[in-house]
Amino acid sequence: MDTAAILAEIHAELSAREDRGRVADYIPELARVDPAQFALSVVLADGSQHSVGDARVPFSIQSISKVFTLAIALGRLGDRLWARVGREPSGHAFNSILQLEGEGGRPRNPFINAGAIVVTDAILAGHQPKELLGELLRFIRDAAGDDDIHINARVARSETRTGHRNFALAHFMRAHGNLENPPDLTLGAYFHQCAIEMTCDQLARAGRFLIGAGGGPRLVSPGRVRRINALMMMCGHYDGSGEFAYRVGLPGKSGVGGGILAVAPGRAAIAAWSPGLNAQGNSKLGTEAVEMLARRMGWSVFG
Ligand code: GLN
Repeated sequence: MDTAAILAEIHAELSAREDRGRVADYIPELARVDPAQFALSVVLADGSQHSVGDARVPFSIQSISKVFTLAIALGRLGDRLWARVGREPSGHAFNSILQLEGEGGRPRNPFINAGAIVVTDAILAGHQPKELLGELLRFIRDAAGDDDIHINARVARSETRTGHRNFALAHFMRAHGNLENPPDLTLGAYFHQCAIEMTCDQLARAGRFLIGAGGGPRLVSPGRVRRINALMMMCGHYDGSGEFAYRVGLPGKSGVGGGILAVAPGRAAIAAWSPGLNAQGNSKLGTEAVEMLARRMGWSVFG
């Protein structure tokens, strides 16, 4: 069966699912999103793309933005970044503060909120948030080959008003000397990066730089592609990362907007979107969709 037929089959099967998880409501703007939406898109290494469902509806990429800021930070700082953030799975919720206390304000990895705030702080150094966000949008637009990608200011404002946990994380790290900028400044940039909106079609195309082996634009070196994928595999789904690796077998990064970006190295970039989340804050139907696709295509980094 070809890729398009497999996608159509997955779409048909998942359309019948009633339990779609719960839409994130701690960011009020995200609580307003219609949970009935679903999309899946795949870009193969040869550049061909197949999509089903609401693949042209923009959604809030939220934590998927952390993949792009990490790529920029590694380009800018190289291995110096690792003095400030680790590379281990946390086994805790994405917004947990628990480990920071015991580990001197150095977050476990760049994908939990604390780690992503440090990454944003690191690339902010000496720049205005506007400049950083401009660079980030340029990176994502280049990756996707599409200039029609923007920040939703309402979502950013909504999170700025309610993001008390992120303020707590930022202030805590500042107290430990692991935040260079005032927390307000770093979080202003962080909330706006999370509020970038993309369609599933655009996200799959933006993921091509992670395919490696000549598939997609070369925005970072092949060695870095492998390392970003390794981090996505171990930490991309927070305390659900083990489950995602077990079920899907591919590196992936989720966001509370219900998006998932996954990579089949050498073969494809995959984007899935369904706003309802599971208990770990990862898209319920999105995970199922990527799992079904990986299984039917025979894609796994584990053989
Ligand atoms: N902006 C969200 C937050 O900081 C991102 C979290 C996520 O997508 N898991 O809480």
